[in-house]
Amino acid sequence: MLDSFDFDLSEEQRLVRQTAKDFAASEVAPLARKVDHEHYFPKELIPKLSSLGFMGVFTPEAYGGAELDYVSYGVVVEELARMCASTSVIVSAHNSLCIWPILAFGTEEQKKKYLPKLASGEYLGCFALSEPGTGSDAARQTCSSVKEGTSWRINGVKNWITNGPEADICVLFTMEKPELKHKGINCFIIEMKNHEGVSTGKKEDKLGICGSPTSNISFEDTLVGDEQLLGAPGDGFKIAMSTLDGGRIGIACQAVGIARAALEDSVAYAQERKAFGQPIGKFQSIQNYIADMSCRIDAARLLALAAAKRKDAGVPYGREAAQAKLFASEMSVDCALKGIQIHGGYGYVKEFNVERYLRDAKITEIYEGTSEIQRLVIAGHLFKA
Ligand SMILES: Cc1cc2nc3c(=O)[nH]c(=O)nc-3n(C[C@H](O)[C@H](O)[C@H](O)COP(=O)(O)OP(=O)(O)OC[C@H]3O[C@@H](n4cnc5c(N)ncnc54)[C@H](O)[C@@H]3O)c2cc1C
Repeated sequence: MLDSFDFDLSEEQRLVRQTAKDFAASEVAPLARKVDHEHYFPKELIPKLSSLGFMGVFTPEAYGGAELDYVSYGVVVEELARMCASTSVIVSAHNSLCIWPILAFGTEEQKKKYLPKLASGEYLGCFALSEPGTGSDAARQTCSSVKEGTSWRINGVKNWITNGPEADICVLFTMEKPELKHKGINCFIIEMKNHEGVSTGKKEDKLGICGSPTSNISFEDTLVGDEQLLGAPGDGFKIAMSTLDGGRIGIACQAVGIARAALEDSVAYAQERKAFGQPIGKFQSIQNYIADMSCRIDAARLLALAAAKRKDAGVPYGREAAQAKLFASEMSVDCALKGIQIHGGYGYVKEFNVERYLRDAKITEIYEGTSEIQRLVIAGHLFKA
């Protein structure tokens, strides 16, 4: 279904999509229920994802990546999310929130040291901006970095970190000079394993994306050298915001994948389930739900891939990425709700997958900037224009 909708994908992008689709069907789908019900981190998928280039989708070949474009990245995330939203966010946080800032702001030394291990899946990456008291208002960082000769001493706690419990590398944001507000924020590349003063908290017990491990990360007198600073001192906020611009395209694609799952399951169910002597798909109410879901999914994908195309073309894409994320995430929750409605009572129990789609879709309205924040970002761009 929906194969005719290809947004003019190039030959290479089509091949990537088919590869991701086949992989998601053969390797990701069989694990999806276990991932959700047992809050299982699908570790065994990492080497397989890496062998297809999905742990370093847009990382250049020179650093061991697949060197594909951002449209391809979006397509991969959608196909993974179609089968398992947890798997898709493990991949998207790793690629867009950890690899991308190192690629965009790292020194040659940092890129050579970290990107090959990240792109090969030997290392898993995470991005630590949020804190217990600081989410949407990300400029108000309290985790501190204090310069001591050629080292930095880091103290503080980061909250809700996707991949946190499993991560080897963390792109970390800290406040050095609060008097400069957002211009006083630094960014570091932190090696997580066996690093004195770095510890992760318990895995969060979440509503959805249950196999995507989330935890806080604590830094207690953690020492790092100057060579771990990403960008210049004070660049942290700029790095965080530009990273999130790209990340939001991935979250939009994740939302599209979840919504597509709701639609495809609903189309199948509506043709099988009978009421009043005929398949429920014969009723116009059900057809209306299906038609609305289909229109909105295609519209969301268009927004997401249009933003990705702009990113690939090197033109500004912040507003487009925020619009894609806002529209796609709200669309996804709505499609999941309609999917449950189409399934009737069976939509409300775990025997079918549609209730999972609702739980998984909801987070796309929250992380990488809530819907309220996306609206602020979009309006901010328009008022600037
Ligand atoms: C499962 C999960 C994974 C996550 N992964 C990561 C990660 O990998 N890295 C990371 O750094 N963070 C991560 N986060 C954190 C996430 O980005 C934040 O939860 C999100 O940005 C919202 O921040 P908050 O929870 O502090 O809510 P708050 O900022 O406290 O917001 C609460 C409510 O107030 C609204 N609000 C706040 N400010 C405004 C405003 N100015 N105008 C209108 N409404 C406003 C919000 O939209 C929201 O509805 C994750 C969160 C979750 C739940």
